[in-house]
Amino acid sequence: MTDWAAELRRCVRCGACREVCPVFDLTRLETDVARGRLARIEQCDQMDRFVTADRDALSRCLQCGRCVEVCQSNVRVPDIVRDAKARSGGATAIESSVAGALGDPARLRRLTKRARVFLAWLARATPDDAGLRLRFALPYFKAGRYVPRIPRRSYLARVAPRAAAGQERVALFLGCGAGHLFDGVGDAIDAILTTMQLVAAVPEQACCGLPAWGMGADREARIAAANWLEAFVPGDYDAILCACASCAAHLQRNLPEVLAGDRRADQAARIADNVHDFFAWLRKRNWRADLGGQRIAVHLPCHARHDVRDGEALIPLLIESGATVIELPDALDQACCGMGGAFGVRHAELSRAIGEKKVQAMLRERPDVIVTSCTGCLLQLRDLVERSGARVRVCHAAELLAG
Ligand code: SF4
Ligand code: SF4
Repeated sequence: MTDWAAELRRCVRCGACREVCPVFDLTRLETDVARGRLARIEQCDQMDRFVTADRDALSRCLQCGRCVEVCQSNVRVPDIVRDAKARSGGATAIESSVAGALGDPARLRRLTKRARVFLAWLARATPDDAGLRLRFALPYFKAGRYVPRIPRRSYLARVAPRAAAGQERVALFLGCGAGHLFDGVGDAIDAILTTMQLVAAVPEQACCGLPAWGMGADREARIAAANWLEAFVPGDYDAILCACASCAAHLQRNLPEVLAGDRRADQAARIADNVHDFFAWLRKRNWRADLGGQRIAVHLPCHARHDVRDGEALIPLLIESGATVIELPDALDQACCGMGGAFGVRHAELSRAIGEKKVQAMLRERPDVIVTSCTGCLLQLRDLVERSGARVRVCHAAELLAG
């Protein structure tokens, strides 16, 4: 954002954001709603000083954008909060270090390998009766969080680098979640592309830089963006397909700003038009699956709803594929799952309480399956469904569509 001081002044303190903010809904603290956050940021801006309490308050915003939907002044709260985080040095040393590792293919591979070995050891030390999830209790992550087992050979380790084949030269950007954790997503996308006689190129790749950008670690976000361009620009692809809606949002919307002042900013702006949410791209091509009347609860990620081109295409695509998409009341349908990147790690209890409202509403409708298109949301939804004891499949939408 160029002039965020002017943006701050647009807030007329009407309080409409109090009706929709998921964090305020739980805490009822004025400091936890857009109006209070903006007042605080304005004060810090005037004093040109952010203290620890300010940084903590900033970290309690999900950057979900619900407040923007109701704001008559159209104040871009998530952008202001993000910029304030960057100015205040909001990312901790650990967060910056992890974000830095995510943005570099070689460091990301090493990080994933170490995490797999460590979690395997932890699983042996603290066996999980369910046998499907590893329960880990690091002080940083808070006790009791479930994570999927990290595959021995992730999709990217098995497949990259791979060249494109077929009449169109498409490339696949997995994102960290699908590339290293949710192994079936890449395979599902491959299966769908096979129905079109296409093989997507899978260049060596790491993180798009969204986690770093969201937490205000701008240096790490810039490095990740530069590495991403290096991976995808030389291929001159007809389309770059994103497995994760949040990555698509970052690449389409933020990349030129991340690289502002860098010689690659123009390149980032040009390639943004060529980046597609996988489901928006499928629907544009009139591709259909056969979902045979399945009742599906869909969590559309906040980034898909606000920032991705045709980001809501997943819902009509499911309906056109024969599914019945369960309708929740508007407020719940549009609600954030509560993950919000670093928010879900730093404020695990709050994150879980926010997500539970939506997941419980979904489960009451007795869906056959719950789907989403962001791997961060998927992590949260699986955690919450697992915790609820419900036996409902929770998967990435590509896995459902691939059959
Ligand atoms: S809705 Fe918009 S203008 Fe009203 S208090 Fe919230 S941020 Fe300010
Ligand atoms: S972005 Fe979301 S969490 Fe942050 S103030 Fe707005 S509604 Fe609340």
